[in-house]
Amino acid sequence: PNTISMETTMAAQLTLADWTKRAGQKVSRTQLFIDGKFVDAASGRTFESINPRDGSIIAHVAEGDVEDVNRAVAVAKRTFEAGIWSEMAPLDRKNVMLKWAQLIRDHAEELALLETMNCGKPISDSLNVDVASCANNIQWYAETIDKVYGEIAPVPRDSIALIEREPMGVVGAVVPWNYPLIISSWKVGAALAGGNSVILKPAEQSPLSALLFAELAVQAGLPAGVFNVVNGFGPSCGGTLGKHMDVNKLAFTGSTEVGKYFLKYSAESNAKAVSLELGGKTPHVVLSDCPDIDAAASAIAWGVFYNAGQTCHAGTRMVVDQKIEDELLQKIQDVSKTIMPGDTYDPKTAMGTIVDRSQFDRVNEYINIGKSEGAIVHTGGTPVEPVKGGIFIPPTIFKGVKPGMRIEQEEIFGPVLGSIRVTSDEDAVRIANDSQYGLGAALWTRDVSKAHKIARQLRAGTVWVNTFDRSSITTPFGGFKQSGTGRDRSLHSIEGYTNLKTTWIQL
Ligand code: NAD
Repeated sequence: PNTISMETTMAAQLTLADWTKRAGQKVSRTQLFIDGKFVDAASGRTFESINPRDGSIIAHVAEGDVEDVNRAVAVAKRTFEAGIWSEMAPLDRKNVMLKWAQLIRDHAEELALLETMNCGKPISDSLNVDVASCANNIQWYAETIDKVYGEIAPVPRDSIALIEREPMGVVGAVVPWNYPLIISSWKVGAALAGGNSVILKPAEQSPLSALLFAELAVQAGLPAGVFNVVNGFGPSCGGTLGKHMDVNKLAFTGSTEVGKYFLKYSAESNAKAVSLELGGKTPHVVLSDCPDIDAAASAIAWGVFYNAGQTCHAGTRMVVDQKIEDELLQKIQDVSKTIMPGDTYDPKTAMGTIVDRSQFDRVNEYINIGKSEGAIVHTGGTPVEPVKGGIFIPPTIFKGVKPGMRIEQEEIFGPVLGSIRVTSDEDAVRIANDSQYGLGAALWTRDVSKAHKIARQLRAGTVWVNTFDRSSITTPFGGFKQSGTGRDRSLHSIEGYTNLKTTWIQL
């Protein structure tokens, strides 16, 4: 379990009956986590946390508001200024975070179940992907703490100019519900490695795993108040963090619409630094010389249906040469039969639910929009109910999608793939780039020159060639265009949580 390999997985020994039984137990952490303690919201209010598997109420969760965010920010500011974390020796900070990574692994089953109950993810994915990555990410950021050096600038010999990275101070992180632990670990891991104090605001659909994640940090030795979690709704909690005069950096992942609010909040308050990881509409450009149609079909199907399509960089647009479209669609349909929705507590289930009723309605509405725009349903398109009361949409494929259709341009955020037929490589690249988004893009070709040339032409933060969705904490992740600014993952992400300082010494 101490390996830093991204391939680390945690074996699930539990059965459907075991997970169902565990899910029936009362959830123990539902309050806000401020200054190392669980506390009620100042207003005493709570909101219902709903399980999309069956519509049941999981817990009543403390609903933070302006007063609670103000309190958490005051605590974070105090801890930062006291230097109890930022000035701790790098080796000691590293060891705290390493211990935290280990505690996450020790509590993997509990964390995974919370993630599954909140988000409707299959339990095996929560365990082997979400929790495993979260632990690896925290470990990776821990390891950076005593390995990143400053610089000495080549200034005239009568001086020495030191260039160092210093923490920014108080960091607010506002995250979505699709990968709560993974996205939180990217932001909180990098911010803490940089020496900051943090307030995390999870999405209201997925408030639970962050509470245990934060409690484990304190158990590992992170001083109380350095990492706080305030659950609550977007405009009140997220908005207060965004506008707060004592928050120095705001890291956001979510929709493009809300991301833009944070730029406004910053402009209207203290001009805080803002990083934005926003939406996407990733194209798969499949040229006629695709080297392996079976591999492409598998990567395309998993790349759009994994997590029920609720992935910001999901490959939702297949821009495919007419010579191979029919064969490829048939093979994608065959793969999609192995990704059908099932009970989220069953370790064999490959696809879970849509996160909540409003997202479910939105995806169904887009399926209707696609039909009314003249696209043809090739596969799926109608909700299924493998668990009574659950909100499941099976893999859905549209044929005959034309550039400019709403289902081709707008982010659906569900398991819906659109196939766009093209007759030339030039058209394929033009259509792939004709999007407000630029988070990811993929290209399938056996021609190495074309691969390099087109990879350069594709306007996206990540371009995959002859593969899809390979990722690692060592590579930056983020968008071009309206998919955002700033990067999560890799050493570059720490640049987003630190200020460069020059110290010029006259000799
Ligand atoms: P969302 O933008 O509705 O919410 C994200 C977060 O913002 C939540 O915590 C929410 O409470 C908060 N929020 C909502 N309204 C707010 C407001 N007015 N002021 C301040 N905070 C507010 O997004 P979502 O529906 O939770 O997540 C889905 C979106 O996230 C998709 O668009 C997806 O593409 C995007 N996403 C992007 C990435 C990436 O890395 N680029 C990763 C995952 C998800």
